[in-house]
Amino acid sequence: MINDDLQQRYSSILAELGPGVQLVAVSKTKPAEEIRALYDLGQRDFGENYVQELVDKQTQLPADIHWHFIGHLQSNKVKYIAAFVHLIHGVDSLRLLKEIDKQAARYDRIIGCLLQVHIAREETKFGLDVAELDELMNIVRTTPQDFKHIRLRGLMGMASFTEDEAKVQEEFKGLKTLFDKHFGPAEASPDQHFLLSMGMSGDYKMAIRQGSSMVRIGSLLFGKRGG
Ligand SMILES: *Cc1c(COP(=O)(O)O)cnc(C)c1O
Repeated sequence: MINDDLQQRYSSILAELGPGVQLVAVSKTKPAEEIRALYDLGQRDFGENYVQELVDKQTQLPADIHWHFIGHLQSNKVKYIAAFVHLIHGVDSLRLLKEIDKQAARYDRIIGCLLQVHIAREETKFGLDVAELDELMNIVRTTPQDFKHIRLRGLMGMASFTEDEAKVQEEFKGLKTLFDKHFGPAEASPDQHFLLSMGMSGDYKMAIRQGSSMVRIGSLLFGKRGG
């Protein structure tokens, strides 16, 4: 019964995505059995916000899951996820980027990273502003020898939590413009394809219209958290 509902929600979301848009199923606070049920329907990319919860789930679930860390990552916690994490979405400082590189080196891995840009007006959301993004991109480009174990794969952002669609649209549009500037066609090569992670349960359709290539959906898929 529960799985029938899950299947239905999953297929209707997939139908909305269209070609070239990847789904990260945001499973924070959801038990391993529910992740397993979605895994059994074919989903392989899951997103978590908390390090301890991610580590616990990773040990309980199939090894071919691509785990995305989508929360605010503290530098001192990178070491717990460096052995297995697939993509870190919320990178917002040079210090964090360097720590990811250092921890990835210990496992002889290259970890994909998205830089988080602050696009919402709210004070509470993390991320780089435009000048900080420029600066960080510049540092990575000019000193690649310091970043052998990370790969910058694109940008991530969260729009304001509001009913005002025009505002959300404008924020996503701004992020897409920054993405094109730093990761646009001129930067891409056949073996590199870049990712723009934007859109959640409430705004993913708008995000896709504005050029998202990766949506992070939790409650629409699994049902409300903590309820
Ligand atoms: C929780 C979370 C999501 C998913 O939110 P829903 O509204 O449940 O889809 C997406 N991105 C980030 C960064 C989150 O923390």
